[in-house]
Amino acid sequence: MSLIVQKYGGTSVGDADRIRNVANRIIATRKAGNDVVVVVSAMGDTTDDLIKLAYQVSEKPSERELDVLLSTGEIVASTLLAMSLKSLGCDAISLSGAQAGIQTDANHNKAKILNIEPSRIVSELKKGCVIIVAGFQGVTKESDVTTLGRGGSDTTAVALAAILGAKVCERYTDVEGIYTADPRAVPEATKLKEISYDEMLELATYGSKVMHPRAVELGQIYNIPILVASSFNDHPGTLIHGGPMEIRNKVTAITQDMDVAKITIVGVPDKPGIAASIFEPLAKACVSVDTIVQNASIKNITDLTFTVAKGDAEKALRVVNPIAAKIGARECLADTRLAKVSIIGCGMQNTPGYAATMFSTLYAAGVNIQLITTSEIRITVIIAEDKAKEAVRALHKAFELEKE
Ligand code: ASP
Ligand code: MG
Repeated sequence: MSLIVQKYGGTSVGDADRIRNVANRIIATRKAGNDVVVVVSAMGDTTDDLIKLAYQVSEKPSERELDVLLSTGEIVASTLLAMSLKSLGCDAISLSGAQAGIQTDANHNKAKILNIEPSRIVSELKKGCVIIVAGFQGVTKESDVTTLGRGGSDTTAVALAAILGAKVCERYTDVEGIYTADPRAVPEATKLKEISYDEMLELATYGSKVMHPRAVELGQIYNIPILVASSFNDHPGTLIHGGPMEIRNKVTAITQDMDVAKITIVGVPDKPGIAASIFEPLAKACVSVDTIVQNASIKNITDLTFTVAKGDAEKALRVVNPIAAKIGARECLADTRLAKVSIIGCGMQNTPGYAATMFSTLYAAGVNIQLITTSEIRITVIIAEDKAKEAVRALHKAFELEKE
């Protein structure tokens, strides 16, 4: 029998009816001749609610206690799904992350999976059970419960698929797949039949909230095809995979990320060690810096610009202001009303003209570009936040991604 790992997101198990719906889908997968290991997220907004509660009893909740608290959300969902399956005559057992053998580092609230010891899962599978694993959690060497960071159940699912040698990891939520752009911003967006790991990684990192980047990375490393589809209907989803792709448009998708702030240090003396003196303290303060641009210097004076998440802008300024004063820079400026818009597609590699089309389209739409960054399969512009939607729609049209 071949093995399928299925993952169901929070809305898919949001209430008793939906849990029963998921149970029926699992039973159908079994009837089609597959062993099934299921990973669940916490029901609905459970994780948000638990976090709120924690902050009501403590200004700074203990990370260890918070992890145990949050892990219960997924445990609730897994036990209810197992009960539902049993009531429908299907043998099932729920396992917490620890029981499933998911070992992580001790980085509470954002732990990484180090290893999975699958013997319990394997022995339960042999008994003919459906296994329901509580997602998003693991356990340290010292038996402390950890969680993998928001959205981490995706990662649990792909990691299990890898260690168990599943033929596919099916990931079900309330979205039907990966689209050429966010359908809420671009009504003409179309659902993709397939997408490569590389493209999906860029998408997940540059604004599409559909999938946890770490999960895509694991899928790529272990070559596990990931199907993204809805649990509310049987419409075909999007397959993320590493095999040959059907020939199609060279731009695959356009993304937007509204969580962008820009810090510019003006009038920086251009000499060795300056960049290090700025970015080392930022790293120490746990500010994750994204795009970095240093202008060509004129008379040994330059400007240094970098972007951070909006929530980190104030902290970044607090770190950078005294350094700027010390090195003799003129001033530090912050702009928190920015967005990132990216065009992504493997087909752009080694093909000229994409940047030109992108920039002339933005020009025609009256969008001013503040910063530009690229990878081999992505071009990103940083623009004013209130122009993002317009920019995405114009680019979607220019690259002919709309419905026929
Ligand atoms: N329940 C966790 C969250 O909401 C993990 C997940 O859903 O994957 O972030
Ligand atoms: Mg959730």
